[in-house]
Amino acid sequence: MPTETFEFQVEARQLLQMMIHSIYSNKDVFLRELISNASDALDKLRLEALRDDTLGADVSDLHIDIEADKDARTLTVRDNGIGMSHDEVVRLIGTIANSGTAKFLKELKEAQDPAAAEGLIGQFGVGFYASFMVADEVTLVTRRAGESKGTRWASTGEGTYTIETADDAPQGTSVTLRLKPADTEDQLFDYTSPWKIKEIVKRYSDFITWPVKMAAEAVEPTADAEGGADGENAENAESMAPPEPETLNSMKALWARSRDDVSDDEYHELYKHISHDWNDPLETIRMQAEGTFEYQALLFIPSRAPQDLFSQGHKRGVQLYVKRVFIMDDCEALMPEYLRFVKGVVDAQDLSLNVSREILQQDRQIQLMHRRLAKKVLSSIKEMMAAHPERYATFWREFGRVLKEGLLGDFDNRDAILGVSSFATTHDEAEPTTLQQYVERMKEGQQHIFFMTGESRAAIENSPHMEAFRAKGVEVLLLTDPVDEVWVDAVPEFDGKQLRSIAKGEADLDTEEEKKEVEAEREKRQQEFAELLTWMTARLGEDVKEVRLSSRLTVSPACIVSDTHDVTPALQNMYRAMGQ
Ligand code: ADP
Ligand code: MG
Repeated sequence: MPTETFEFQVEARQLLQMMIHSIYSNKDVFLRELISNASDALDKLRLEALRDDTLGADVSDLHIDIEADKDARTLTVRDNGIGMSHDEVVRLIGTIANSGTAKFLKELKEAQDPAAAEGLIGQFGVGFYASFMVADEVTLVTRRAGESKGTRWASTGEGTYTIETADDAPQGTSVTLRLKPADTEDQLFDYTSPWKIKEIVKRYSDFITWPVKMAAEAVEPTADAEGGADGENAENAESMAPPEPETLNSMKALWARSRDDVSDDEYHELYKHISHDWNDPLETIRMQAEGTFEYQALLFIPSRAPQDLFSQGHKRGVQLYVKRVFIMDDCEALMPEYLRFVKGVVDAQDLSLNVSREILQQDRQIQLMHRRLAKKVLSSIKEMMAAHPERYATFWREFGRVLKEGLLGDFDNRDAILGVSSFATTHDEAEPTTLQQYVERMKEGQQHIFFMTGESRAAIENSPHMEAFRAKGVEVLLLTDPVDEVWVDAVPEFDGKQLRSIAKGEADLDTEEEKKEVEAEREKRQQEFAELLTWMTARLGEDVKEVRLSSRLTVSPACIVSDTHDVTPALQNMYRAMGQ
């Protein structure tokens, strides 16, 4: 097959331009990304070999090699993992699948200062393309396990890439970077320096469960090897056999180590590897379960919601390991849907390595773990609320809408979810309130927690329904997320107080006595206006059920009220939007 030239997809081209012009200041992370991909490829191969014994791949020595050539100014990262087929190379390397890319690029263009742009790149993460921050040409040679022919992909990042068949490619993937000249002049940025490579691997990839090795030629002699009493013996040994490549990472599973042994930075790097996010997480949650069913969990709450949190097919769930062996990504069975933003690792001691998604869904132990993990996440949010109010505010802004979905289905945890939820309120323009705080502020004789749903704060505040409440100084929660329409019907009360919509039925604002007075007054006036009301009911006909005098308006002349069990206008809109 001759060399084919392809054009990068538009989004990919734009992203590459930004990498080439390097608006991201921490260029070292390119190596983290390559090692992360290599590690994923090794995980995939081991799993595939486990499930398919006709694959015929050698899985006895899975590892990652780093090879630097100072003279040629190249750096190669090689793995003997799953590899990619010709089509996979085109699909995975030539295009960007992430659905948020277009939006991201638009924001990036609008971001005026470099710091804002850098923040966006960090949030998005660019994976393989990060190589173009330090290289002016990237060559990838790969052969998929089970296939006989390999593929060579090469690009300078300038709009096109070439693909040709590589007959002699070993199974797995190697990525070779031709480093930009500027990077080799300064020791700090010389990515062919063994010292530099070691430092980056230690810093970003230490926990990777596969050995990351560096060819011995490239390893500078350490103090131990140079001096010492038996220097002569070492020399003799060297002349007999080439020295073993050095393994740079410790490969320790962070979740199995005690909290005191692991730095926050180490946890954060693990988070970045599994989430593909370049930012630190908001919260790290550790859990050790002992007893008959032993497992460890290391969970993370990201600091920003991903673009596709509400799109169909959003990946959710944590990584599942069994006795330190990676089993699967996105293990849905371990995390409820409303906690789909949680990332992390769960390592179980007593599951079979062959466990499938179907088995997991039905496994009683897994269901138990699922419940305990959900409770642990909710209690951690509660702790965050008390100890770090600012962090909690960020959490709520990013994930509150998702968490509230749990009020619909998770009866067990309903109170826990209500307890960590907050809501916009007429009490304060800027600060949301918890239900607990609302209850503490309730007026003498106020029986219910009042709320109104709507499209925006302004829309609700301008609603005629608000008038009586404003006049009386009664606090109203302003619920503007689409999910609010739904959960308010499912949640009858908090702390013994009913949740009442002010837009439905009779707004119960007054004490019993006041109510009797008002009712008597209304009766009287209803009589007075009987003729007018009958006439109006007849005129409006089909459009209304009833026309009655209102006790709730102070300024507006009229308003439309639904029956207590009717669908609200906003929910009608939502159903309409969903095509129902
Ligand atoms: P991400 O890792 O977030 O998916 P990347 O840009 O890092 O994004 O990589 C894109 C895709 O290319 C990966 O998802 C993977 O399918 C494929 N890929 C990259 N590197 C390798 C590799 N060393 N071996 C096999 N597949 C790889
Ligand atoms: Mg990647």
